[in-house]
Amino acid sequence: MAQVSDHGGGVRSIEVPIPDNPLGFTLVYVLDTDRGPVLIDTGWDDPSSWDALAEGLAACGTSAGDIHGVVITHHHPDHHGLSAKVREASGAWVAMHAADISVVRRTRATGPERWYAYMADKLVASGAPEEHVAPLRAARDRRRGPAGTGTDSRRRLPGLSPALPDREIVPGELLDLAGRRLRAIWTPGHTPGHVCLHLEERHPARLPGHGRLFSGDHLLPRITPHVGLYEDPDDAGEVADPLGDYLDSLERIGRLGPAEVLPAHLHAFTDAPSRVRELLDHHESRLTGLLTLLGTPLTAWQLAERMEWNRPWQQIPYGSRNIAVSEAEAHLRRLVKLGRAEAVPGSDPVTYAAV
Ligand SMILES: [Zn+2]
Ligand SMILES: [Zn+2]
Repeated sequence: MAQVSDHGGGVRSIEVPIPDNPLGFTLVYVLDTDRGPVLIDTGWDDPSSWDALAEGLAACGTSAGDIHGVVITHHHPDHHGLSAKVREASGAWVAMHAADISVVRRTRATGPERWYAYMADKLVASGAPEEHVAPLRAARDRRRGPAGTGTDSRRRLPGLSPALPDREIVPGELLDLAGRRLRAIWTPGHTPGHVCLHLEERHPARLPGHGRLFSGDHLLPRITPHVGLYEDPDDAGEVADPLGDYLDSLERIGRLGPAEVLPAHLHAFTDAPSRVRELLDHHESRLTGLLTLLGTPLTAWQLAERMEWNRPWQQIPYGSRNIAVSEAEAHLRRLVKLGRAEAVPGSDPVTYAAV
């Protein structure tokens, strides 16, 4: 049975499962409008997830074919995965921030072998050991080889051919929703085009504060969203500072003071400002801890090995190590931007030291 919650005031959520993922599910929100229901995010592209979404919509008295529009908080496959299917069923528009539309466009245009090559180069530059990089090189070469060509395996990999949105979400503007006031707030950091959506209407239970906030992955209870470097094979230089973006976006959301936060994972919660404070404190103490580690020059990989994670480095699986090193790099980028660390001249792979 689909898990559906009624949040009042024409807002419901459906738990759409993410197969084999400890997060469990994405909360897909159904927002009633005068032109039909609008979804906020769609969930992971898997038959079981689609069934859960369809059942949930039925429990809400509607169906995928009745969806008027789809608003996507960010391009990740647990949020945008089913957008193509919803659009196919209903003809709904799909809206996303321009920066994440660029990521979608790039993902659609980039073959897996280019991604493997990009990831391998990036890991080498971060100081990853050869045994970690080798499987990526092998995967790239398999894709290049005569046996690995063709599109079959590509189709089976989720998230490689995401739906191209047909509307842009413009930061600061109200979305074009009949009978509702939903304002887009650009909150880059977790992805370059992440948006939160502020429902500027009185809270249905009259909780104090300003409306309700669909927070995507930006502001979650209990868990800290991943903030790594924006992955872009065309990234020319060290320009982006995703952690800096994230911390700025967090402060803005804290100042908004919504009465209730409706996140894309776990559960709804109140008192956004104190959750924002916890996250800002967490990152501040993390940055301070890293500066201590950087008393000795370290590569991004060595820093990741020494940082505190939810389990010892030896027990972190392969894919999660890639995410961890990307997170270490985002922290290094922030420290460099703040003038608190710098790259050691002539080091290769590059090492960083506290200033
Ligand atoms: Zn995400
Ligand atoms: Zn997510």
